[in-house]
Amino acid sequence: MDEVSNRIIGARIRDNLSGKEFDTYAKVVVNAAGPFCDSVRKMADKESQPMICPSSGVHIVLPDYYSPEGMGLIVPKTKDGRVVFMLPWLGRTVAGTTDSNTSIIMLPEPHEDEIQFILDAISDYLNVKVRRTDVLSAWSGIRPLAVDPKAKNTESISRDHVVCEDHPGLVTITGGKWTTYRSMAEDAVDAAIKSGKLSPTNECLTNNLHLSGSEDWDPASFTVLAQQYVRMKRTHSGKVVPGVMDTAVAKHLSHAYGTMADRVTAIAQDEHLGKRLAHGYPFLEAEVAYCARNEYCESSVDFIARRSRLAFLDTDAASRALPRIIEILATEHNWDRTRKKKELQKAKEFLETFKSSRNAQFYDGKHK
Ligand SMILES: Cc1cc2nc3c(=O)[nH]c(=O)nc-3n(C[C@H](O)[C@H](O)[C@H](O)COP(=O)(O)OP(=O)(O)OC[C@H]3O[C@@H](n4cnc5c(N)ncnc54)[C@H](O)[C@@H]3O)c2cc1C
Repeated sequence: MDEVSNRIIGARIRDNLSGKEFDTYAKVVVNAAGPFCDSVRKMADKESQPMICPSSGVHIVLPDYYSPEGMGLIVPKTKDGRVVFMLPWLGRTVAGTTDSNTSIIMLPEPHEDEIQFILDAISDYLNVKVRRTDVLSAWSGIRPLAVDPKAKNTESISRDHVVCEDHPGLVTITGGKWTTYRSMAEDAVDAAIKSGKLSPTNECLTNNLHLSGSEDWDPASFTVLAQQYVRMKRTHSGKVVPGVMDTAVAKHLSHAYGTMADRVTAIAQDEHLGKRLAHGYPFLEAEVAYCARNEYCESSVDFIARRSRLAFLDTDAASRALPRIIEILATEHNWDRTRKKKELQKAKEFLETFKSSRNAQFYDGKHK
């Protein structure tokens, strides 16, 4: 903070990968720390009123047979008034609740009673009992529901986003949804331009910008991908024969990477990285290398949680895939043995916060 003008003029940054800290200066600082944005605002002004009303959401993943034919259901009002939904998601079924009050912590965990509540609520609407042992993954997240600190009426906490500059030079953007990220960014940049009296050379362009890989993409693109793919593989008798790509993998790659999918298949073909990372899931070894090279995948958690969704789809499958994922990332980033060990430990700690039927705190006679 500049003592004379009382304006925020920069930030102290910590690079969490190297642990290094450094100062940087800017005409405007944008605070987009999600549920943590109040702690950043408090650095500028200890007295600042909270903007965030943290609200936890618990989701569970079940086998695909609970949402046959791509059908889902939503129960707008369960016995205790909460919403429950169940939808097909990445070849499985995701079910979840909306909000309950929570505190703000780095790695929230779903409570057993919240998981049971979802299972009971959807069981009421299906002809079969949805069992705890069917839960492949369960997690909790914190939604940053926001109130404008300057608003007169604080009753209406909505899912809209809020942009404010309650301390000169510090623009906070929070609330909103994943689905509104583009307009949130536009509003935050507009506020930063105003605050810093910046002179942009053009208007916002993102409304007409295509996402990477979406240009010229076609729903049938996966067919071409499968047709063009040839990976030589060794049979049980030791003969080397051309292998084909199965439809599930081709569809997954085409949907995840769009027209960039052929770059992933090129790595699979040319660098012998064409095996699946986990039985029953279409993620390929080549994706780890591709994400490390092109999508800033810097840790094993980046891959299992934020590049692929394997941790969210099936915690135990993610755990089994970890050694191979770390091996590929180690080659890409030149990790030594110590770093590999640390990566495994960090990823295991992360997966412990997911409560699939294997690591859940319950007893069904099979998993002690
Ligand atoms: C269970 C659940 C389900 C949801 N489902 C949907 C849905 O179906 N559709 C939808 O549209 N939205 C959904 N949302 C809401 C959506 O996730 C959020 O609205 C969105 O992630 C908010 O984006 P954000 O960038 O503001 O914050 P975040 O995504 O939380 O990003 C904030 C970032 O800031 C970083 N950070 C925090 N503190 C600091 C600091 N001091 N310095 C530097 N960096 C920091 C964090 O590491 C994080 O990367 C869901 C949320 C939850 C919890």
